[in-house]
Amino acid sequence: RTEETLLEVNNIEVIYNHVILVLKGVSLSVPKGGITALLGGNGAGKTTTLKAISNLLHSERGEVTKGSIMYRGANTQGLDPAAMVKTGVIQVMEGRHCFEHLTVEENLLTGAYTRSNSADIARDLEMVYTYFPRLNERRKSQAGYTSGGEQQMVAIGRALMSRPETILLDEPSMGLAPQLVEEIFTIVKDLNEKEGATFLLAEQNTNVALRFAHYGYILESGRVVMDGPAKELRENPDVKEFYLGMS
Ligand code: ATP
Repeated sequence: RTEETLLEVNNIEVIYNHVILVLKGVSLSVPKGGITALLGGNGAGKTTTLKAISNLLHSERGEVTKGSIMYRGANTQGLDPAAMVKTGVIQVMEGRHCFEHLTVEENLLTGAYTRSNSADIARDLEMVYTYFPRLNERRKSQAGYTSGGEQQMVAIGRALMSRPETILLDEPSMGLAPQLVEEIFTIVKDLNEKEGATFLLAEQNTNVALRFAHYGYILESGRVVMDGPAKELRENPDVKEFYLGMS
């Protein structure tokens, strides 16, 4: 089986504030139609890697100083966020940023800002509601008053409204109860299987990520220390001991 590679990160270095070297040569590839997990503890460099890919480091005074990032074979470094969305890549930020004073539905519609065909937009809104029935129930509610899990769903749903090919999902489990984490990952898997959406997700929750992902990379202090099919990582003694909390 030949897999088409969508995203290719090759040996990137990232420096913040001109001096703090945070990524020390990270390489990874994301195949079309896969769920790829980027794992590692607090501060390992997961968020930095995602932001490097989606060109969001600039506002953090960070820059890619070495290596390359290619999407469908084309260099994407330096594209502005809107151009990145047009390329097909969207990032769902950590911490489920919603517009709190807008309704759930208005939040979702902001995700379609690069599009103009209103019939297509309406159809995609219904598509989002079929995957997130909870959001359908709360479509007229002010987003700021919905639960943490619902806000995470709004953040993912809004990203879907740009019709992305690849979704970079930063720490979807953060701050959520186990049952909700399960619910969100199940929806991610559904979107992957039924809509063909490609995911690169950063997670500290290795356990859940390796159950849903196909392939994983483990980052430690800005370097990939291990990678492999999720099933192999789950059975690897070091991964079990250091990341899955069992030996
Ligand atoms: P977390 O789960 O905490 O987000 P992470 O693996 O995503 O962890 P990053 O957020 O990428 O890690 O951070 C990696 C390192 O870079 C950390 O040591 C962090 O302190 C540092 N860092 C992150 N953002 C900045 C910044 N804007 N300026 C300077 N250093 C930063």
